[in-house]
Amino acid sequence: MIYTDTRDSSVKTTFKTAVVNGMNEKTGGLYIPVEFPKLDPELLKKNPQASFQDIAFAMARPFVEGEIPDADLRAIIEDAYPFPAESVKVDSNTYVLELFHGPTCAFKDFGARFMARVMSYFNRNESTPLHILVATSGDTGSAVGSAFHNVPGLDVTILYPEGKVSKLQEKQLSTFDGNVRALKVKGTFDDCQKLVKTAFTDTELRGKLRLSSANSINISRLLPQSFYYMFSSLYVKNNEAKNNGIHNPEIIMVVPSGNFGNLTSGLIAKEMGAPISGFVAATNTNRTIPDWIATGKYEARPSVETYANAMDVGAPSNYERIAAMYSLDQVKEMFGSYWLDDEGIMASIKDCFEKTGYTIDPHGAVGWKAWSDIKNGELKALTEGKKNDFTKPGLTPNVPSWASAVTEKKNAIGVILETAHPAKFGSIVAEATGKDPEIPARLEAVLKLEDKAIPMNNDYQQFKAWLLANLK
Ligand SMILES: *Cc1c(COP(=O)(O)O)cnc(C)c1O
Repeated sequence: MIYTDTRDSSVKTTFKTAVVNGMNEKTGGLYIPVEFPKLDPELLKKNPQASFQDIAFAMARPFVEGEIPDADLRAIIEDAYPFPAESVKVDSNTYVLELFHGPTCAFKDFGARFMARVMSYFNRNESTPLHILVATSGDTGSAVGSAFHNVPGLDVTILYPEGKVSKLQEKQLSTFDGNVRALKVKGTFDDCQKLVKTAFTDTELRGKLRLSSANSINISRLLPQSFYYMFSSLYVKNNEAKNNGIHNPEIIMVVPSGNFGNLTSGLIAKEMGAPISGFVAATNTNRTIPDWIATGKYEARPSVETYANAMDVGAPSNYERIAAMYSLDQVKEMFGSYWLDDEGIMASIKDCFEKTGYTIDPHGAVGWKAWSDIKNGELKALTEGKKNDFTKPGLTPNVPSWASAVTEKKNAIGVILETAHPAKFGSIVAEATGKDPEIPARLEAVLKLEDKAIPMNNDYQQFKAWLLANLK
C-alpha cells in the first residue's frame, strides 16, 4: 500500500515510514492510505460472520502488503487480540459494542496493541531498542504502557503530571516493570508534552538513543480500530436477520468522540465494505466537530473538562483526515452530529440504566442520549424543517442520508460504541445509578500493585540526564 499525506498529496511513502515517523514532520500533515480496498464479498457474506482474527487479518493485509508477510501479520493479530469486541443487544433497535475487554478496559487497547507489535516487527533487525516517549493526561499512557509491556525491542517511558490523574489511572500507569516505566512530573500535562517534544528535537540525545512516539495520530493505531466496526456490523446484520427477520437493517454507528480517531476508523471500515449506513458523531461540551458540521467553519479551541474526560479535545487531530477524505457535504450526509453537556451525561447514564438495566460509562452515555433523541422524534423534527440551535446540547441541524431508516422505514439499528468500562469512572456512574459498578478483576489487580513512578522535576536538563543515565 502507498501512503500519502493529508497536506501534500504528492507525498508517496511506505507503511513502515508512516508508522515510524508518526506524522510528516516536513508538512505537519498526517499519513493516510491512497485507497481503501473492498474486502472479499465471500468473507462479508459468511453467516455466522468470520472470526474477529480472520476479519482483522483480511482487513490489515492490503495495508501492509509487501512489508509484513502473511505469517507475521497473522502472529501480530493473534498476539494483539486475545480478548473480544462484544455486541450486546440492550433494546429492540440498539446494541452496545463493548470495546473495554482489553487489559486497560478502554478501546485504545485495540489500536495500541497492534501498533506495538508492528513497531516491534519493524525493529526486529536492529541491535538497540527503540525508545518510546509518551506524555499522557491519563488514558493513553496506560494503553500504550500495557500494549508495549514485554514486547521485544521496544522500551517505553511514560510522563504524567503528578497529582493530576485519578488514583486508578495512576496505578494503571505507574506499576509496570521491565521495559515500561513512568515518570511523575511536577507540572501539568502540557509540561510533560513539552519535555517529550524537546527531547525529540535534541540532536545530541537523538544521536545516542533511538527515539519514537506512540501518538494517537499514528496510522498503525487507526487501521486496527476498523476491525471491530466490520466485525460488529456483520454480527448485527446476521443476528437481526436470524432473530428478528430484519434482513437489511440500516446500521448506524454511534461514536463518542474526542480526537475522532475512532470515528475515522469507522469510515475506513465502511469504505472497505462494512454494512454501515451512517454514523453519529457524538461529543461532550468540546463541540468543535458538531460546530463545523453546523456552520461549515472549523475552529479549534482550548479544551474544557467534562465527565467524559477522554473526549476533552478542542482541536481534534483527525479532523484533518476526515476533511482530506470527504467534502463537508458528504460528511453531512453520512453523519448525524450531536453534543451533550455534563448534566446530560449524568441523566443519560441514569436513563440507560433505568430503561435497559445496562450500566454505561460517561463516554458511552453521550452516545446513548444521542441515539435516544434520534429515535424519539428529534431527527423527525429535523426532517420536517425544525432548525436546531447548535449552541445548545442536541442534534445539529443537518439531516443525514439515513434519516428515513429511522423516521419511516423503521429498520435502523443503532450500535453505540462503549469506549471504556464503567468501573473506570466508578464514582460518576455510582452517583447516576445509585449503584457501584462491578470492578473487573484486572482493574482490581492493578490497584494492589506497587507504585513505581519515578519523581521528576519539570526541568529538561534533569529529564535528559535521567534518560541518558537509565536508557540503553
Ligand atoms: C480516547 C477515548 C475516546 C475518544 O476517542 P477518539 O478516537 O479520540 O475520538 C472516547 N472514550 C474513551 C474512553 C477514550 O479513552
